[in-house]
Amino acid sequence: MTKIKGSCLCGQVTYSSSEEEPAMTAVCHCPDCQKQSGSAFSTNVLVPTDSVTFEGESRRQYVVNGASGEEVTRNFCSTCGSPLTTELPAFNNLSAVKAGTLDDSSWVSPDIQIWCDNTKPWSKIDESIKSAGANPG
Ligand SMILES: [Zn+2]
Ligand SMILES: [Zn+2]
Repeated sequence: MTKIKGSCLCGQVTYSSSEEEPAMTAVCHCPDCQKQSGSAFSTNVLVPTDSVTFEGESRRQYVVNGASGEEVTRNFCSTCGSPLTTELPAFNNLSAVKAGTLDDSSWVSPDIQIWCDNTKPWSKIDESIKSAGANPG
């Protein structure tokens, strides 16, 4: 069984990835992640978008142009509002699974943090993690 599975807050939407391990785990301090998460950053487990399956009728999608100019699609629960995954076609067709929605996130260990130029003064950066000012080059 994959450890990359989880649900929204109300439990109506669940997801899982067929991947055993994430391609990467990234902390993102971008403005969109701050707005969507309601916090200073999002922590994301990256897996191929086509490895992710959803269940639950309350899932909705919010599509917006990312900094790359390409569309990014944010999957969320329309009942409770939890952000679940963000599909990133411009980033190797990976999806960013919101680590806080995993059923068990105890194993998550960030490899990189991005958009550090946008870090909020009330949020501490972990200096031990590789950092990029905006999107990774
Ligand atoms: Zn929900
Ligand atoms: Zn972001």
